[in-house]
Amino acid sequence: MPTDRCSAAHAEDPTPCGGPGDAVTILDGVGGAAAGCEHHGARILAAIDGARVEPGSVVGAATRTFVAARSALLY
Ligand SMILES: [Zn+2]
Repeated sequence: MPTDRCSAAHAEDPTPCGGPGDAVTILDGVGGAAAGCEHHGARILAAIDGARVEPGSVVGAATRTFVAARSALLY
């Protein structure tokens, strides 16, 4: 079990990070924020109602995360 994952990775989600752990910032809509990689950012964005994604250290990552989260909701 990897322990060096980004803070957006859920404990019950065993998948590894997809890129830098501060690629995006996820705002949960109630005042919380977590830096995360694109992969876990998209997962948490899709899972939390009212969550938003803001750019982090990687240019374009927030857009890709947003698109991936929408795809996850559709399929
Ligand atoms: Zn991650």
